[in-house]
Amino acid sequence: AKASGSAPFQVFDPTLHQTAIQRLQLEIDLRKALYQQELVVHYQPILALTTSKLVGFEALVRWHHPQKGLVSPAVFIPIAEETGLITQIGHWVLKRSCQQLQQWQAEKRFSAPLTMSVNLSARQFTQPDLVEQIDQILAETQLNPRYLKLEITESAIMRNAEATTSVLQELRKRHIQLSIDDFGTGYSSLSYLHSFPVDTLKIDQSFVQQMGENADSLGLVPLIINIAQKMGMTVVAEGVETQTQLDHLKALNCDFGQGFFFCKPLEADKISALLASKS
Ligand code: C2E
Ligand code: CA
Ligand code: CA
Ligand code: CA
Repeated sequence: AKASGSAPFQVFDPTLHQTAIQRLQLEIDLRKALYQQELVVHYQPILALTTSKLVGFEALVRWHHPQKGLVSPAVFIPIAEETGLITQIGHWVLKRSCQQLQQWQAEKRFSAPLTMSVNLSARQFTQPDLVEQIDQILAETQLNPRYLKLEITESAIMRNAEATTSVLQELRKRHIQLSIDDFGTGYSSLSYLHSFPVDTLKIDQSFVQQMGENADSLGLVPLIINIAQKMGMTVVAEGVETQTQLDHLKALNCDFGQGFFFCKPLEADKISALLASKS
């Protein structure tokens, strides 16, 4: 046999093979996760930066895998996207989180109304009955649409800008609020941005975390806040982890913040307890 080093190509890469098998196994498990009730929604508080008051939550899905333990959405959401499972998962997260907010409101857990922000994937956006699904969830949960906020990434919008705009307009008619998620990471098109009926820009956490210790190194954050305010949108800074970042954001008049510095995403019971202790 020839020395393996001189082989012109490798027919079988055992590590690649392993990865493919693991990925496939995860996909098989994910198909079962929903009806086996392995998915849960965690809620991360969003605060007004000037008053430190709670204004709402972001719903973030979690998967408790029976053998692997907690699997990150950064791992399974892309698989759910590729396989189309995201439409069922996304529908479930939306319903669950609307129910939860409505329950907290019914229990009078907070005085001022709070919003629930829910991530919508690109794939969900292409479902022809998306708006009907949302209408049905709002009807079932009795949640006032004004308290629902949907988060969509720029790339999801840009994938089919015209079709998306008409869906966004439909949602707007119902007074559902809209946010652009991970702003700055996609290829932003400012000329498009102003034509989308969007209420809020969420600055991606990578920009927030790059904000340096001195005012010369604020990176793109001041620009993004400026753009949002010129367009009449509010701004949420994600991934706020330090007092320094918070100070910079306040000085820049950023409206809202979310991050480990305030609170990590928590299960519903922990949020209920937190709300009880504050009131
Ligand atoms: P995202 O929408 O940008 O969500 C924010 C992510 O940042 C969350 O990660 C959150 O836990 C994390 N985070 C919050 N504060 C901090 C902080 O101070 N520092 C750091 N380093 N991270 C922070 P998570 O929950 O792991 O979710 C990852 C991504 O998975 C989300 O990013 C979103 O794109 C996707 N995802 C999560 N839940 C859903 C869902 O229900 N539907 C869809 N379509 N996507 C979801
Ligand atoms: Ca988000
Ligand atoms: Ca984000
Ligand atoms: Ca993100």
